[in-house]
Formats: sequence, C-alpha cells, structure tokens
Amino acid sequence: MRPASANIVLVVLDCVRQKNLEGVGLAGGPATPSLDRLAEDGMVFSNAVAPANWTLPSHMSLLSGIYPSEHGVRSVQRRLESTPPLLAQRLSEQGYSTGLFTEQAHLSGDSGLAEGYQLCRTSEPFGAPVRGLAAGLPAPGSAGAGAIEALSRLFVGRRAALAIPGGFVIHRERLRLKERLAGPGLVREACRWIAERSRDRPFHLLLNCVDAHEPYPLSDRRLPPLRPSELLGLLPASLLLQASERSRRAALERLERAYALEIQRADQKLGLVLGALERAKLLDETAVLVTSDHGQQFGESGNVFHSGGVSDAVARVPLIVRLPDGISCRGRTDRWTSLCSIPDWSLALARGESPFGQRDQQPSRWPTLAGQPAVYCEGSPAHEVNSVFAHRFAGAAWNHRLIARYAREGKAVFDLDSGALARWSEGVEYDTAAPDVTFGEEASAQAEGLFPPIMMHAPSLLPPAGGGSRTITPIEEHLAAWGYS
Ligand SMILES: [Zn+2]
Repeated sequence: MRPASANIVLVVLDCVRQKNLEGVGLAGGPATPSLDRLAEDGMVFSNAVAPANWTLPSHMSLLSGIYPSEHGVRSVQRRLESTPPLLAQRLSEQGYSTGLFTEQAHLSGDSGLAEGYQLCRTSEPFGAPVRGLAAGLPAPGSAGAGAIEALSRLFVGRRAALAIPGGFVIHRERLRLKERLAGPGLVREACRWIAERSRDRPFHLLLNCVDAHEPYPLSDRRLPPLRPSELLGLLPASLLLQASERSRRAALERLERAYALEIQRADQKLGLVLGALERAKLLDETAVLVTSDHGQQFGESGNVFHSGGVSDAVARVPLIVRLPDGISCRGRTDRWTSLCSIPDWSLALARGESPFGQRDQQPSRWPTLAGQPAVYCEGSPAHEVNSVFAHRFAGAAWNHRLIARYAREGKAVFDLDSGALARWSEGVEYDTAAPDVTFGEEASAQAEGLFPPIMMHAPSLLPPAGGGSRTITPIEEHLAAWGYS
C-alpha cells in the first residue's frame, strides 16, 4: 500500500551557486541536464538564500529551520545543544527510514548533524586531518597549517617563485583527497539504499556531494592549456588574495572554469539518484529537493571561495523542489526564500500535504519589518578556517560578522564589527566597492530599521549616541549569546 507520507530526498550540491545556473558565469554556465529536468517538473526558487556562508552552520539551519545565531553551531568546536529536533529526528519519530550519505566531513563529525539518521555513510577516508583539508585549509595549529603559514611568509616576502611550487604540492595533495571523497562510491551506495527501500515505510535520504567544493583540477584536459598567469590558482585562497589584481583575475577565471566542470559532475550524481528512484518506481511518490549549503566566490566582494563575506555569489543558491504525484506543483518563483523553510516543507510532505499551501511563508523567527518578510545570510565568525591568515589583512577584507538581509526592496548588509551598513537595490550584486555604504551613527540609525533588535545590541561596535550617554552591555555577552566566541 502506498504510504500517505511522501519519501523525502534532499540533495545538497555543496558549493554550487545560483549565479552559474543562471548562465551568467563564464562560458554561459555549465551543462546541467539533471537539474534542468528537475526544474521542468518542479518548483524553481530563483531567489533562494543560504542561512550561512559555509557548510556546518548552513546544514544545521536547513535541518533545524533556525538561523545560525539561534542554533549557535558556528565553528567545528561547537555541537548542537538545544534546538528544535532536527529533520531526521522528526521524520524518524514518524516512522521514516532515514539515511545520510555524505562526502562532506562536516556532516559526519561531532557536530550533531547526523542526529536522527538511522544509517550514516561517509566517503572514505574521514579523520582528523581530513576535516581541515575538506573545509579549505588545515585547522589552525595543525601541522598542515604550519606549512601554509611558511608558504604565506614566502609569498608575503615576495618570493612567489618559491611559494608557487610549494602551493602546487599542497594543491595536488588536496586534489587527491577530494577525488577520494567525491569518487562515485558513495552515490552508488545511496542508490542501492533507495533500491532496497520497502514500500510500506516512507524514507528520507540526505546526500551531500562535494564535487563543486575547492580545490579544482586546473589542468583538466577539457580546459585550454594552463598559462603561467593562471598558476596562482594553485595557491590557497588566502595567498591568492595577496596577488596583484591582474594576476588574481587570470587565476580566478581559470578557477571558475574548472568549478563549472565540477558542477557538471555534481549534476551527473543527481542524475544517478533520479535514475535510482525511477528504476525503483518511486519517483512519483517522492519529493526531491535539490539545493546547496552556500555558493562560491571567485573575486566577488574581494573574496575567494566561501567562509568569508555574504556576496550574492555565496548567499544565493539553487533550490528546486519536485513534488510527488497528486500534490505536484510546477513553476518558478522569484520570492526571497530561506533554506530554513526546508524542515517545515518536509513535515508537510510527511503529512501527505503540499509544502506550498498555507505554510508557504518565509520563516518568521526574526521580526519582520513593516510586515515585510525577509531572509538572512549570516556571515562568518572570526575563527573560521581562513582566519589563520586574518592578521595579514585589514579587517574589512575578511568581512567577518556580516549579516545580509534580503527582502523585496533589495539587500542590506550590516557589518557588526565596523558598524558599516551597505544597501543595494534588487538585482544588483553586493560588492564592497559599492558607493552606498555608511558608517557609525548614521548606519546605526538605519540599521535599527532594517535589522531585528537582536542584531542591533552590539553597542561597543557602534558609537554610542550623544558621545557616550548610552548604556551598553559588554559586546562579549552579546556575541556569546549569538554563538560567536
Ligand atoms: Zn559546504
């Protein structure tokens, strides 16, 4: 007998950004037949926003339905403590079989993300050194970080000729590791798991594919021969940021071309999952949700890759939902939509209902402004992986503690650290070079109207009105309350 509850397949194509799927990337965007097919049969959310700019807090949000400042898991040292139960826990309670298949180390660690999954399968190998490498750089204090620090000193000392061969060695090792993580084994295992599902019990599968995550194979045979000016792409992002504008541009274009190829590989994996559902004759009773936990940056707002900044390139992600027969709904919406909606949608599907009925609202856990819904992307805390190099840059270059608010009228970004407020009109890419940036008291006054009160009580970050008459709470208390440390 067919269950009333829909099966729920959630596929996270790590690091895939909406920008490339809109054909605005280099070479008109990658070929993504699986995503295209899903889009034809489902609902396309063309303005979906990731709750955070890197993997761990973003996944925690899309499984809990609340923002990182509420669940507090903002570093690899933090574990989920007190939040609503995660999606898999709630579905397990309702009789679902639940399976997690992840190529991404963050989902398999001690963070608590795997809570509720009866089966957890990871790519081989995972271990302590892998976590830092998969996240972008070795963890501070690790042996690998020491090697990168030494490289960095060479580069800062303008001995780039020495830094590049060293960078190449690290790049090659990271690439080998990624190939082991992103190999075809895990997705095949997920497909077998689908094929084994019993029809009298609904199932939920979460698959994370890291194909589009850095590092990228710069010398892929499908790309033109690697030119000397593009060799800087072999360096870690933190070093690449120190190169001259011209060298950096050439390297970033190369990286973006290689990234597009990796998006194609991620799309092929999605095709395998759709094929498995079809072969098992389960596609018509399964909701397939495809998204990404964050995008990727190739120079946007002065950032490379992710974990820094809240440019549209990193905040805007694909979101396509193909519903089961009976409640299927097709079309396209450009309304701003947070990935925090996914648990509510999934629970509606578990009840056999359409997720886009009366629950088709933005999450309202943040106060609204004049009744207008908004969605948020929360920027990185200062201890994110790239902060190994933070001391080498002006604070602004690292864009820590940025809060982006997307709403109908456009985008505003508030910098908790400097008090700067930047606003953009709808459709304009956020960029630190944009002129409409204000600071200090003026920004404070504007931000009061734009951001929820919880974000506006960092008074030591904002100049007190009237030269110091304001009663202030120590910033540490507020930051701790939001999960920063
Ligand atoms: Zn990620």
